[in-house]
Amino acid sequence: MLSIQTAVSAAYVVAALLFILALAGLSRHDTAKAGNTFGILGMGVALAATIAVVVDDGAQASGLVLLAAAIAVGAAIGLWRARVVEMTGMPELIALLHSFIGAAAVMVGWNRYLHVEAHPDGPAARALDAIGLLGIHAAEVSISVFIGAVTLSGSIVAFLKLSARIKPSPMMLPGKNVLNIGALLTFAALTAWFVLAPSLWMLIIITALALVLGWHLVASIGGGDMPVVVSMLNSYSGWAAAALGFLLRNDLLIIVGALVGSSGAFLSYIMCKGMNRSFISVIAGGFGMEAPTTTSGGQDEGEHRQIQAEEAARILAGASTVIITPGYGMAVAQAQYPVAELTARLRAKGINVRFGIHPVAGRLPGHMNVLLAEAKVPYDIVLEMDEINHDFPTTDVVLVIGANDTVNPAAAEDPTSPIAGMPVLEVWNARDVIVFKRSMATGYAGVQNPLFYRDNTHMLFGDAKNMVEEIAQALEPVRS
Ligand code: NDP
Repeated sequence: MLSIQTAVSAAYVVAALLFILALAGLSRHDTAKAGNTFGILGMGVALAATIAVVVDDGAQASGLVLLAAAIAVGAAIGLWRARVVEMTGMPELIALLHSFIGAAAVMVGWNRYLHVEAHPDGPAARALDAIGLLGIHAAEVSISVFIGAVTLSGSIVAFLKLSARIKPSPMMLPGKNVLNIGALLTFAALTAWFVLAPSLWMLIIITALALVLGWHLVASIGGGDMPVVVSMLNSYSGWAAAALGFLLRNDLLIIVGALVGSSGAFLSYIMCKGMNRSFISVIAGGFGMEAPTTTSGGQDEGEHRQIQAEEAARILAGASTVIITPGYGMAVAQAQYPVAELTARLRAKGINVRFGIHPVAGRLPGHMNVLLAEAKVPYDIVLEMDEINHDFPTTDVVLVIGANDTVNPAAAEDPTSPIAGMPVLEVWNARDVIVFKRSMATGYAGVQNPLFYRDNTHMLFGDAKNMVEEIAQALEPVRS
């Protein structure tokens, strides 16, 4: 007869395959929904198998009640948060979820230490010793606690930065690279010592060291590089889960952790390439990056020109080619529906309208594409930055709707700027640029934007949704 253990092993293989299908599905727009379904199914199978293991291990009724209560409370909070979260709040929610994985790795590591190494004469320690795995177990405890604590505190800093509870600018401690390398070397030495002679104070120091390192790594990275940090922490959380898998002898956790860890690392690499950043430098907490010499602006950049919606409509009515470059402000204003409506009206007048999407526009990868798809903007006029950047010089009007850092010429022209080297949409090369925003405030990276002071730029102040609606209305009389 099929034993529970065999059934569980089979279920783990099925769950692992479902997770691989989920990742494959999520990599493309049109298969993303199916990818999500595979992920949900995989997690369902994994949960059922894990509960079966607990029951098979002879858990007491009180333990099972506790488990059921934990699952019910966790599921209720998860469902509630997922239902109410705004699209713009997604990155901070993800950062918070990464911190939970880090916390789990720390707690399981501590739990294993208290069960095994803290009682060298206990049955658990003796059983591991008999098969020669006691030292390996101690190393696993140390590594799991370390990766978990780095992920925990790093994710909390990312959450605080993304939710604007702390400033997104980079913290530049003197000798920060030496501090990071010193912390890693100390960890390696402490782990070796912990394997030879495990003790409570060492585990406390390893935990504290990792918490400080995680905090420092993420605090050292500036606002403009936060997208990479989010995917990097995603990767760290995967490695934390894999470390847990080794500690708990759970193959599924090892497989899933490795999948998340490697796909997160690969996403970070792709984003670094897109933003012209060094991958190693970002994952090492801004290793080798110099402190920016220009920051939050306020410098006297000159005069800016302000226009009203009617004037913007007049400029648009005289154009034959228009590019719209949306950014975070379009998401905040929920302006995608009026933008889609305006696009339809302009196209009806025979104007060639296209969208230029920067890889890090908004607050999560693909943010703008999702919003535009939601508003049913045709896919074929939504182009990536590389596909459209050469077309600005031959474009009549660019509508910059709630974008700032992603259209900042300082990235291309000012080597001392904190965002120097980051490829941006070169909107300033068009004949006329209309910038939709509410004030002269800086974007997420906190960098002043010289675009606003160019001769061909017109500032249209106000909520992006209202302004786009006003332009669409004003276009009617122009049409007749
Ligand atoms: P920015 O965050 O640079 O700027 C958005 C602009 O929108 C602001 O200047 C703001 O100006 C304006 N705005 C806000 N609300 C409204 C509104 N209701 N109506 C009109 N305008 C509004 O946006 P970008 O998309 O250009 O750049 C994204 C930034 O976020 C980059 O620095 C990127 O690195 C970072 N980031 C991206 C992530 C990703 O994965 N995509 C993740 C984390 C960070 P005002 O207040 O004056 O209205």
